[in-house]
Amino acid sequence: MIYIVVLVVTLIFGIHFYRKSKRQSIQPFPWHWRKLLTDNVLYYRKLSKDRKITFEQRMMEFLSEVYIDGVQIELEELDKILIAASAVIPVFGFNEWHYTNLSGILLYPDNFNEDMQFSAQDDSRNIGGIVGNGRFEKQMILSKKALYHGFNNTTDKNNTAIHEFVHLIDKLDDNVDGVPERLLEHQYTIPWLNLIHKEMEAINDNKSDIRKYGGTNQAEFFAVASEYFFERPDLLKRKHPELYKMLVKCFNQARPSLKKND
Ligand SMILES: [Zn+2]
Repeated sequence: MIYIVVLVVTLIFGIHFYRKSKRQSIQPFPWHWRKLLTDNVLYYRKLSKDRKITFEQRMMEFLSEVYIDGVQIELEELDKILIAASAVIPVFGFNEWHYTNLSGILLYPDNFNEDMQFSAQDDSRNIGGIVGNGRFEKQMILSKKALYHGFNNTTDKNNTAIHEFVHLIDKLDDNVDGVPERLLEHQYTIPWLNLIHKEMEAINDNKSDIRKYGGTNQAEFFAVASEYFFERPDLLKRKHPELYKMLVKCFNQARPSLKKND
């Protein structure tokens, strides 16, 4: 009997220390990243001092949970910073978040085609990011070119990496259908779907300033509208107040006005 008690106690302590050591594997935020973040990520720049520190911690948490590999490129610090920032931005309204459906990210140097080839010299090479299925389950592939473009151009309402993370959030309930059950309370599902369909119709009738690709299907609409929300919240609020309100509810964050000259 005593052996069993000792065994159980040892096990409990073992698990406790294992968990603790896992937690400790979160690296401290490298101080020199602050400048890189400030220079490159407008969203971060707009946060208060306290929220900036929280944002940095959340980035390090993310980087401790997901590996990033460069394919035919040497990973640079800014690559990791931009990827981690893209992961944190859509879920920053929640105190804790784990992308349980993501284990790793492959960073390609340039856009790629549907066969994940980036060396092909043809027009099919136009994908900047993808959330993997099948062989690539739990993986995301991003083009470095698209990743950087998303943060360099802060007025075009596009951000490929944020787009892919929004797909992952949508995918958490197993359906990539533009209805993120994890974020949206059940009672909002029907109003959300009605709104999506109305906005998609406007896109497909060429009566919208939302990127055309958002008219493809509900999932793409959700991802494209979210890019707009995180890149140009002020403009979205003005042009699509209902959609803006719904996304605030969904991501649990109101977006401060981002002025062009900031
Ligand atoms: Zn997409």
